[in-house]
Amino acid sequence: MNTSDVNHSGIGMTSQRTRMRMVDRLRQQGIRDEIVLSVMGEVPRHLFVDEALASRAYDDVSLPIGFGQTISSPFTVARMTELARANRDPNKVLEIGTGCGYQCAVLARVAKTVHSVERLLQLTVKARRNLRAARVLNVRLRHGDGHVGLPTEGPFDVILMTAATTHVPKALLEQLEVGGRMIFPMTKGEEQHLWVIERTAQSYTERRMDAVKFVPLLPGTG
Ligand code: SAH
Repeated sequence: MNTSDVNHSGIGMTSQRTRMRMVDRLRQQGIRDEIVLSVMGEVPRHLFVDEALASRAYDDVSLPIGFGQTISSPFTVARMTELARANRDPNKVLEIGTGCGYQCAVLARVAKTVHSVERLLQLTVKARRNLRAARVLNVRLRHGDGHVGLPTEGPFDVILMTAATTHVPKALLEQLEVGGRMIFPMTKGEEQHLWVIERTAQSYTERRMDAVKFVPLLPGTG
C-alpha cells in the first residue's frame, strides 16, 4: 500500500462517518423512506462541491457551486427524492437543473436512467466531471433549456426540477407518463413551495408540500 492509498482510505472513512451522522439527522428531520436514507449514506457529497467547501459538504446547508448557483441542502435533496420515489423505483427520470450533479447522482441510485438538463454549459461540464469521479454511469447530461424538457427521450415516470418556476412548463406536463409525477419548486408572490403533480389517465392532480428556497428557473441557455 502506498501513501496515497492510506490518504484516500482515511478520507473515505471520515466521510463515511460524517455521512452516517447526516443520515441520522435526516431521519430526525422526518425523512422516512429507508431506501432514500441509505442512498444518502452512500453518495459522496464532498466530491460534488469545491475542495475549499468539502469540510461543510455534509452540513445541512445549501452551498455555492459557482456561476451564482447552489447545491441544495441534504434535507431538500432527500425530501425531493422521497417524493420522486413514492415507495417504488422509477425507470426513467428527467431532472431539470443539473448544477453540480449531486441530486442527479442520488436519483441515479434509485432509478434505471436519469436524464438531466442544465442551461449553463460550464455546469454541465463540471457535473460530468463530478459524476465520473463518483462513478455514476446511468446518467445522460444535456446542455439546454429545461423549459422544453427532452421530447426525444420522454415520456418520463418522474420529472424533478431543481430551480423555481412561476408557472408549470406545458412541455414538461406532456412528457410525463400516465401515473408519473413531477416534483418542482414554484414561486407565488413572496412564497416558494415544493409541488407534486401527478398525471392520471384523464388529467393531472396537484399537491402543495414544504416551503423551500431555490434559485430561479431562467430562460434560454448561458
Ligand atoms: N440539482 C442541482 C441544483 C442546482 S441549482 C444540484 O444538485 O447541484 C439549479 C440549477 O438549475 C442551476 O445549475 C441553474 O443553472 C439551472 N437552471 C436554471 N434555469 C434552467 C433552465 N431553464 N434549464 C435548465 N437548467 C436551469
